[in-house]
Order: sequence, then structure tokens, then C-alpha cells
Amino acid sequence: MIIRKMFKFENAHIVRNCSTQRCRASLHGHSYRVELLFESNFLDHGQMVYDFGLMKQNMKEIIDSFDHAVTLWCDDDAAYLEAMMRHSERYVILPVSPSAEQFSRVFFVLIDALMHLTTCVNGEKEVTLHSVIVHETATGYAQAFRDDAYSEVMGIIDFEQITFSKAIQKDWNDPNLFEKIKAKKEFVNPKKV
Ligand SMILES: [Zn+2]
Repeated sequence: MIIRKMFKFENAHIVRNCSTQRCRASLHGHSYRVELLFESNFLDHGQMVYDFGLMKQNMKEIIDSFDHAVTLWCDDDAAYLEAMMRHSERYVILPVSPSAEQFSRVFFVLIDALMHLTTCVNGEKEVTLHSVIVHETATGYAQAFRDDAYSEVMGIIDFEQITFSKAIQKDWNDPNLFEKIKAKKEFVNPKKV
């Protein structure tokens, strides 16, 4: 069975080298919608695959990191990167360009890592991330599956090359959230949410 949960965030970017002039040459924003799809052949004690309420914790926080932020590709023009970091306190730097395709891959590896580190306490069994859909507009989306997310051809997403600005980290319940994911610390789901 597959379940899906939708999240929203507002984000600004430039997608260098794409075909559309407006996208590659002008800073602009989108109202993104992200869908996380989880799969299991089992149900927990509440007869659910994975309680949606549990997704409102760390998972939501990771996605919300991108809200009202500018997402930057580390290989973009140095002067542009420097100006964005100086004038926007919420920014994220990625090792890949912030296209919908790459956003879906980035969310996949982040949420997948979080799931692997999370200990479930309500009988959830063999719950795996099936795919991540990122809607960039009302009509266009990208969907990353496991093979896409970890594809070297599409670009390795190394957590050491992802930077969340200080203002973003400060907004997290635990300002060390990403450091803990990188250090592979255990997260235990609350008994009740
Ligand atoms: Zn765009």
C-alpha cells in the first residue's frame, strides 16, 4: 500500500542552463507542493502504514527549511551567490541546481536518511520511502524514485555539500537537526503527537 502526504513551501531560485530564458536568467519564485509517498505491506497498531501526524515533526521541518528562502546551486556565479547570502537570511546551498527534478532528489535523500534513523514505536513495519513528487507549478512536477535519488549520473547529493543558513537552523525545534542526520544519530518517534 502507498500513502502520501503533501507539504508546501515558497522558494526562489534561478535554474541555470535551462531552455527557458526567464528561468535561467532571472531570480523568481514558485509555490511548491511536495508529496512524500511511503510504502508498506503492513499496518501499525493504529491500522495505518505511517501516521501522518508523525510526518509533521522532523520531515516537515526539513521541507519547511526551504520556505521563504532562496535555493542556490554551489556552482553558480560566485558574485551572485555572495549577493544572495548577504541579502537573504534564509538560503540553502545545494550541490545540484534547484530544478524540480533535483529538488525531488534532494528531498528523497534527506527524508530517506531521516526514515532510516527513525525508530518507530507504534508497530510500523517495513515502511520505505517510495518516491517524492515536487510540483513546481500547477501543471508541472518531477517525481524521484530511489534509483533517481542515488543516481551518480544525475549528480551525487552529498550532505556535506548542503548548507542551511543560520537563520534556517535557528527556526528548527532542534538547531542541530541536520548535524544529527549527518552524524547518523537515532531519532525516536514520540508515542503520541
Ligand atoms: Zn523556476
